[in-house]
Amino acid sequence: MPDIVIVGAGAAGVAAAYELTKKGVKPLIIERDAIGAHASGFAFGGLNPFSGHGIPGPVYPVAQEGMRLHAQLARELHEATGVDTQYRQAEVLSLAADGDERARLMALLPWLKAEGFPAEWLDMRDVLRAEPRLAPGLLGALRIGGAAEVDSYRYCLALAQAAEKGGATARHGEVTGLRFDKGRIAAVEMGREAVPCDKLLLAAGPWTSAFGKWLGMDIPVRPLKGQIVRLRLKGKPLNAYFGWRGNYAVTKPDGLVWAGTTEEEAGFDERPTPEARDRILTTLATIFPPLMEAEIVHQTACLRPLSADGLPIVGPVPGKEGVFVATGAGRKGILLSPAMGRAAADLMLTGAQAAWLPPLLPARFAKSGAATQAAKPAAPLLD
Ligand SMILES: Cc1cc2nc3c(=O)[nH]c(=O)nc-3n(C[C@H](O)[C@H](O)[C@H](O)COP(=O)(O)OP(=O)(O)OC[C@H]3O[C@@H](n4cnc5c(N)ncnc54)[C@H](O)[C@@H]3O)c2cc1C
Repeated sequence: MPDIVIVGAGAAGVAAAYELTKKGVKPLIIERDAIGAHASGFAFGGLNPFSGHGIPGPVYPVAQEGMRLHAQLARELHEATGVDTQYRQAEVLSLAADGDERARLMALLPWLKAEGFPAEWLDMRDVLRAEPRLAPGLLGALRIGGAAEVDSYRYCLALAQAAEKGGATARHGEVTGLRFDKGRIAAVEMGREAVPCDKLLLAAGPWTSAFGKWLGMDIPVRPLKGQIVRLRLKGKPLNAYFGWRGNYAVTKPDGLVWAGTTEEEAGFDERPTPEARDRILTTLATIFPPLMEAEIVHQTACLRPLSADGLPIVGPVPGKEGVFVATGAGRKGILLSPAMGRAAADLMLTGAQAAWLPPLLPARFAKSGAATQAAKPAAPLLD
């Protein structure tokens, strides 16, 4: 059995660890902070396979597999660990305030229907019947079923616990370097200590780029900051994901309305800011005025790992035998993590490639002249 080290206990790392233990392998997970201590523990937790960068396109099959595996994992992880990941089905109502937005949303309908999503255009009278507190001046909404949600922290915790039950070990500390023997990974360094391994998975979120200097190639992933405000709203819960111009709000199982989000270029700064709080609230209050009266309970900020072309990076590092990467899932890292984790585990153990993998391989950045320009994600309906 190979000695496998995984760097990072975010969604990508713990999903891969769990998949490995299911196949009888006992990886070592090294995490410098804590399980789900960054984006993976503070994400919105929306699971939406029908919109986002690369959908329709190369991310769509990964998202479909993610949806299928999340439904399976919700039961499996509960049985294995007793942790309820709060997985539940969800519906998205994507609102339009002007004719351009309505046209953009309606243009999605044929594809959504062809893919089998229950989707329909609702005029504002019907939308207000479902949620009378919405602003009356809106034009209507695209209603899409087939989404779901989890509590992203519980999800990571459950994966990590299930992996540990299957024989994985977790170690606290920072990986500070890599050692190679004739082009093959031999060990990871933790300060002065060398931890031997013959396979290595780098799942270090936006910090994965720091490993480029040992790999001899750029892993072009950078942090895209996002913030969420959690509020106590008087009256009935918001029982669908209300989305508008890349922002969204819903009542989560903790009884609070979670409202997000921002896309900020702020380096590795993870501090919540009053500017982001005000921007989220004033934007969403345009469609849902009662938000301005709601009590602010909590605000979070964290960093999405965004790759140079906006697509995840999954697979072997060319020229560095035994080293693999799973990162760059941007706004969809919770949804995509089970599929990315499974694909990484299969690659490390048997070399088997998921059918959707070729456009996501790290090798695309090794080619000379490959685009390492920062991608700006298209305004999604929801994360
Ligand atoms: C506001 C917001 C809302 C979001 N909502 C959603 C959503 O609704 N649905 C969805 O699918 N996605 C969502 N996302 C995206 C999702 O959170 C991320 O894509 C995902 O969590 C990334 O997971 P990861 O494991 O790749 O990285 P991370 O969660 O960043 O984990 C990487 C881990 O590696 C560790 N690490 C780094 N370097 C080292 C080192 N040298 N040694 C040891 N450990 C190291 C870090 O401490 C960290 O714990 C959201 C993101 C944000 C910011």
